[in-house]
Amino acid sequence: MGGFFGAVTTGRSVVLDVFFGTDYHSHLGTNSAGLTFWDKEKGFSKEIHNITNTPFRTKFENDLYKFHGNCGIGCISDTDPQPLLVRSQLGVYAIMTIGIINNAAELIDKRLREKGYPVKSLLDIVQNDNQFMVMSSGKVNSTELVAALINQEDSFAKGIKNAQKVIDGSMSIVIMTDKGELIAARDALGRTPVHIGRGEDGQCISFESFAYTKLGYQSYKELGPGEVVKLTATECEQLAPPGDKMKICAFLWSYYGYPNSDYEGVNVELMRYHNGESMAQAEIDMGTLPDVDYVAGVPDSGVPHAIGYSTRSRKTFARPFVKYTPTWPRSFMPGDQSVRNMVAKMKQLPVDKLIRGKKLLFVDDSIVRGTQLRETVEFLYESGAKEVHMRSACPPIMYSCKFLNFSRGNSDMDLLARRMIQELEGDEGHKHIEEYADASTKRGKCLLSAICEKLGFDSLGYQSLDGLLDSIGLDREKVCTYCWTGKE
Ligand code: SF4
Repeated sequence: MGGFFGAVTTGRSVVLDVFFGTDYHSHLGTNSAGLTFWDKEKGFSKEIHNITNTPFRTKFENDLYKFHGNCGIGCISDTDPQPLLVRSQLGVYAIMTIGIINNAAELIDKRLREKGYPVKSLLDIVQNDNQFMVMSSGKVNSTELVAALINQEDSFAKGIKNAQKVIDGSMSIVIMTDKGELIAARDALGRTPVHIGRGEDGQCISFESFAYTKLGYQSYKELGPGEVVKLTATECEQLAPPGDKMKICAFLWSYYGYPNSDYEGVNVELMRYHNGESMAQAEIDMGTLPDVDYVAGVPDSGVPHAIGYSTRSRKTFARPFVKYTPTWPRSFMPGDQSVRNMVAKMKQLPVDKLIRGKKLLFVDDSIVRGTQLRETVEFLYESGAKEVHMRSACPPIMYSCKFLNFSRGNSDMDLLARRMIQELEGDEGHKHIEEYADASTKRGKCLLSAICEKLGFDSLGYQSLDGLLDSIGLDREKVCTYCWTGKE
């Protein structure tokens, strides 16, 4: 994934606003981060750091003194380093993006061919601009590709529309021009949000709405799908209107959005309470509510779903294990798998009196690959739990996301539900995904009990798609449910 923040004021330095505003997006990415500022006298200044093992603030606090300007942007990225500085016929500008380009190779080939490929000499390369810089992985930086697509047109608005039209995937874009203006574009189907905040002496753009309220900006508007705006310190000019079709990502609420964020007016924390309540109510109606001592959430995003479940089921909420966070930054990701497992294990601390001899029901935000959950269950049994029941706050995930850069594996066969279907029925099973996804059908029940057995739970339940969508509460057509249905 990734997140971004940008601000422009009438003259006051925005360095601290952008520093803290960007930091508030740290839950959205763990790879790299960047800050870029524009100053009327000094032009652009920029830094990019790897944040794999060190939090954003620690990495950038020593850079603060060298930044100046009343306009700036920053991003947290799970993929390519950014923001990038670009020089083109549109001027010099800084650009950052969030999204995924599934057809990058095709777009790069096309662009190179248009520019005179194949080349015969170095002079050809320079004269025809038929090159892309590549990262050490050999891949073209997605943001550079987006910039190349924008540069094909004679205005930012047209260029952004051109990029969004030809990209297979999704792409939200933020640009800072050499006039000290910000241009923000939400991806064509609004899979991820873009908020505009307005303060006394400036305006800002942000993925997360809460990131700017602490900085003195109030919510001004949330961009519609595909909408493009230009921001100065005082004006918000619409460069392209929103489209009428939206497919906002359902996982913003159930998993990766921050609790105090609102998307399309729906708060994340409250959605999770409602979702947990609706799961418990469905079990009360079906008579499947297990007799447990405590209801608990798998930290962090499982917790509010569990609070809702506990409230409706009238089973006591507890935290049978807690994470030791003071010295383990969320992003700490050692390369070695065995060290990673060790880190995961060391982070989890049992509260012995809440586990030993107890019957526990855990709610997790989702069950994706199942690896970590299996370890959690083993850990609970090792710690003396009598029973462990598991509930997933969303239906079984059947399809990998192809619209966002979501770090959960690229193949459908990485998904636990799909692997189990393969085990149960072989290739034939994948023709009946819809049935498997519905826990009330024969195949659905079969999948449920196979996963339950595989992961060693005493019982397993999934939220239904209807229950999830009701908890979000938006018009169903506006919410992306591709992960579960495979329907775009
Ligand atoms: S496919 Fe899933 S993760 Fe991707 S945008 Fe849709 S709901 Fe979100």
